[in-house]
This record gives sequence, C-alpha cells and structure tokens, in this order.
Amino acid sequence: QSRINILGCQIDKVNMDQALAFIEKSIKGNIPSHIITVNAEIVYQAHKDQQLREVINSASLNTPDGIGIVWAARQLGVTLKERVTGIDLLDRICSIAPARGWKVFFLGAAPGVAEQAASKLLDKYPGLDIVGMENGYFKEEEEKAVIAKIKALSPHILFIGLGAPKQEYFIRRNLKLLGVPVCIGVGGSFDVLAG
Ligand code: UDP
Repeated sequence: QSRINILGCQIDKVNMDQALAFIEKSIKGNIPSHIITVNAEIVYQAHKDQQLREVINSASLNTPDGIGIVWAARQLGVTLKERVTGIDLLDRICSIAPARGWKVFFLGAAPGVAEQAASKLLDKYPGLDIVGMENGYFKEEEEKAVIAKIKALSPHILFIGLGAPKQEYFIRRNLKLLGVPVCIGVGGSFDVLAG
C-alpha cells in the first residue's frame, strides 16, 4: 500500500478493514509492528520536530486519524475514504479478538481507568482475553519492570494510552524488547471508554 506525505509525515492510505488486515498479518507473522493513528496535531508537532518525524516515519502503519488529515490529503488529490481512529481501532480489534484467540494488554491512563474500560469492553465483547493492565503513571526507572510484565504475558496486541507523542516514543524504544506483534498508541481512549 502506498503512503502520502503530509507536511513530512508519511500516512498510509488505509481504511479500517485494511488496517485490520495489516494487524492480522503482523500477528500471523509475529512481526513487531508500531501503529500510529496520525492526527493533525501530531503532524503539526512533527513538522517542527525532526525526531518525532523520524519516529512517525519509521512506524509500521500510520492511519489517517482525523478530518484534518483527510482534508490535507484531498488537497494533494488523494481521497481517503474514512478516518481510522485509535478508539475505533481498539473497539474493532476487541470485537474480533475472541474469535481469533488474540490476547490484549492495556497500558496507560490513571490507576483504575483501564480496569473500568476493560469492564465496559467485557460487557460488550464477552470472551475478550485481557491478559493484563497497568496504569500510565509509572516512573522512568520502573519502565523495565513494566516491559517485563507485558512480555511475560505475551499479548498479541498492546494498547498504549500515554498520550501522543509520549506513547509513540515509548513504543519506538520498546518495540523490539517487547516482541509484541501489534503496539498501538490510543491516547485518551481508556478515559473515554471508562466513561
Ligand atoms: N497519560 C498517562 N501517563 C502519562 C501521561 C498521560 O497514562 O504520563 C494518559 C492520561 O491519563 C490520558 C492519556 O494518557 O489517559 C492522554 O490523553 P489525551 O486525550 O490527552 O491524549 P491524546 O489523545 O491527545 O494523545
């Protein structure tokens, strides 16, 4: 699939189904993949920040998250059919995970929030295998232990809600160490789901 360049950020021309197909392939091939749902705010930040731009451009899949991206693409003559947001991706993955035997892990948000989000998702998708959770307010020196905990539980998908771009740097730093096939930054999605 081809990418389009928006202010120096490469964005994949994918819709939700194509993003899910990519995820399935990463899991089947056991290929650690970093997925970023790119919105206008992060493109704007990355435009002024080369390090962030490099993190974005080296990710495995960058989905168009936000109408600002769809609009910018249209200026370049590219029609993106739909937005692929973090929260929608999280929901769709959780809806198909039980049938596929995919295990998920939630990392991020204040203590208790991921648990509340998990309980809402389990009501909606019984059989969803959430192998573990951890809040997003661990200290720098605790990061190694957090990684070890996740690795030991070997989820197929790790959802990371530390806010952008913190979560993107976290994934970039730890993707190889984790060995998790799919790592996705989901921003404030756990708060939204917890309600
Ligand atoms: N967060 C966290 N650890 C931090 C900083 C933030 O877990 O050190 C969480 C915060 O509790 C919230 C999310 O990251 O759940 C950030 O949400 P926001 O909507 O601000 O992020 P965005 O969607 O804009 O990336």
